Amino acid sequence: MLNRRSFLKTGLTTGAALPIASTLNAFAPNAAAEEVTPASVAKLTTLPARLAAVDTAKEPWQMRIRRVAQTNMTERDPVGMDVEKWADYWHSTDADIVFVSVTGILAFYPSKVPFHKHGKFLNDRDFFGECVAAAKKRGMRVVARMSPDLNWGDALAAHPEWAMRNRDGSPQMNTEEPRLFKTCMFSSYMDDYVPAIMREVSALYDVDAFYTNGWPQLGALPECHCAICSKLPAAGTPAYWRVYDDRIFELWQRYDAIAKEKKPDSFFFANLGGGVRGGPNLNRLGNIAAWFQADNQGRTNGDPAVWGCSLQGRVCNAIMNGKFATNVTAAYSTGGVVWRNASKNPAEARMWMAQTSASGMVPYYHFVGGESGLKEDRRWQKTGADYFNWTAKHDAHLRTRRSIANVGVVFGQSTQLLYAGPAGGRARDFMHETTQGLYEALLRGRFAFDFVHEDKLEAERLSKYRALLLPNIAMLSDKQCQQIRDYVQSGGSIMASFETGLYDENLKRRADFGLGDVLGISKAGEIVGTNGNAYYGRIERKHAVLEGFGETNWIAGAQNRVPLKPVQDPVMTVVPGFVRYPPELAYPPAPHTQEPAVVLRETGGSRTAFFPGDVERSYWITGHGDLHRLLLNTIRWVTHEESIVDVQGEGFVEMFAWETGPGYAVHLLNYTNPNAHHGWMQSTYALGPQTVRMKLPAGVKVKSVELLQAGRTVNFGMERQELRFTIPRVEDYEVAAVAVV
Ligand SMILES: [Zn+2]
Repeated sequence: MLNRRSFLKTGLTTGAALPIASTLNAFAPNAAAEEVTPASVAKLTTLPARLAAVDTAKEPWQMRIRRVAQTNMTERDPVGMDVEKWADYWHSTDADIVFVSVTGILAFYPSKVPFHKHGKFLNDRDFFGECVAAAKKRGMRVVARMSPDLNWGDALAAHPEWAMRNRDGSPQMNTEEPRLFKTCMFSSYMDDYVPAIMREVSALYDVDAFYTNGWPQLGALPECHCAICSKLPAAGTPAYWRVYDDRIFELWQRYDAIAKEKKPDSFFFANLGGGVRGGPNLNRLGNIAAWFQADNQGRTNGDPAVWGCSLQGRVCNAIMNGKFATNVTAAYSTGGVVWRNASKNPAEARMWMAQTSASGMVPYYHFVGGESGLKEDRRWQKTGADYFNWTAKHDAHLRTRRSIANVGVVFGQSTQLLYAGPAGGRARDFMHETTQGLYEALLRGRFAFDFVHEDKLEAERLSKYRALLLPNIAMLSDKQCQQIRDYVQSGGSIMASFETGLYDENLKRRADFGLGDVLGISKAGEIVGTNGNAYYGRIERKHAVLEGFGETNWIAGAQNRVPLKPVQDPVMTVVPGFVRYPPELAYPPAPHTQEPAVVLRETGGSRTAFFPGDVERSYWITGHGDLHRLLLNTIRWVTHEESIVDVQGEGFVEMFAWETGPGYAVHLLNYTNPNAHHGWMQSTYALGPQTVRMKLPAGVKVKSVELLQAGRTVNFGMERQELRFTIPRVEDYEVAAVAVV
């Protein structure tokens, strides 16, 4: 088999990789890029026929919102915040909508709802009403922001049933402000108190939508021992997750109906986010939510990779079917040590907003404290205004219609939330590390990929993907296994790893793999971890997934594996782990076994690859180049090296490609930065030329290719529907907007 470099040098073509036409001579050959990025001259798949035009005037109003703004008001703001100055700033950013605090913890208007405590600086002032009026005067819509998660001692005394309880029966209190107790979402607090506030606000003001902060919980499930919750299934179990989802679903619909009592085009939405872990079942909520509010405000120490916001955008795209989604960027500092009233590094805030746009969401900028943000620390203002003002010039190109990715990554929300990982693993972290390992490998390979929710595996949705990747999707129901089986039988390819399909939807362990027939695998024993040297993969024969492994008979395996029964003619076998120290004993007592380290199959157009080890996770925690190469080779193999958009050039970037109203948009986020995996971006390290190729549907002609950050058009070539152009330089972010006719 030709390796990629010889493929390039010999100039062989497969019909899809066209010789450089004379019209393309203006482009400098990109030899340096070839050296740095081990990417192929991919076979380009023609993009699908363009979607029919949409009459945007007939869409729900929130679909026209392009910038979301929030000053998170504090108790002191009624005496400390200049309302006109607040409204002027947000108006100057071209914000379409502002969040104004009603709350529920402290009332920002003279509320008469019992236990809706007036802030001590309110003095019966209608602060909320004045803010609403100031926003409306400037043409900005208003979201009424509530917080139903906490309340005070007098409410607890009158309604002890409202509190979340510890195992010993004591109320759960807020750790920073112990006078506040946590309210239980199964209690009448949510049935009575929250609707009372919503109806009062509706009666008094003209607001466009209602939102709850602090509920539901993100990325984890609550644990409460109140009288109601004690009768529910045990916390953290699949059965609990279902009743939890039922309750959220019921309240969401009830609040939505209340929001619509006065204005039929109003709606309710709540805090969501939490990436692939979510919290509530995102598939269920995605079906009813008019607005996905991803409260994923910045990098944290527990999740330090730069792409946290993009990953969230892929989650939103997987569940919202093109409906409205936005991600909050904290203008203030986020992380392990927090300064909620001081600006964060501008480069970091900008990158988070850029990820929001690139991943198809609408940017949302947020500072805590009106008085703090307008008087004490004003540095955040320019960062947000500059970014928002830039987007306002390019709304048509930045609004996405659909992702054109050809690789689907299944995100198993139940596995993320409920699966514990193998013994000795770090439970909750296990799936995080697994996801991050695959994510990084996909970025390094510059694949165009989507996330696909485990409950959205219907054939129609999967048909656009050349391959589905299942990174240790341990929990799969029989139905989900069948959907994947059908996908493979219809010619789709899959790559799966470790315990994929070893549990059903109730976390009940199967005797053997749920997808064993599809993948050609059978379990030979229980999980083997590592004590000393981890296992190795012995190369048995040549194969595309092992391309580039010269001068070695073995490569890195993974930390954990599920032993498999032998297969015929294995490509790679397991050399079991052995002593690491002392070095005298660091040699394999069993240097050769029949246990497969990878199982590969090819039937018609379908290719399947299974790794018995936790390879994605082992890559993430080690950065080992063997695992990187193995994952890249395998993804290329299962996709038949077919690309939907090919971007060649130096650097570590995240790429998104969208069909848009005017044409297409290719977004490049430059992560070539010492702070890609730790801390915050402090400055930008610009990249050189990036050459983009895509094959447009028959009859589609290109009018122009414009670089939205650089603010200029570039030349392009078109040959047999293959569009090619070069982005000469990428600072932190660039968008190539292709306008078509
Ligand atoms: Zn409870």
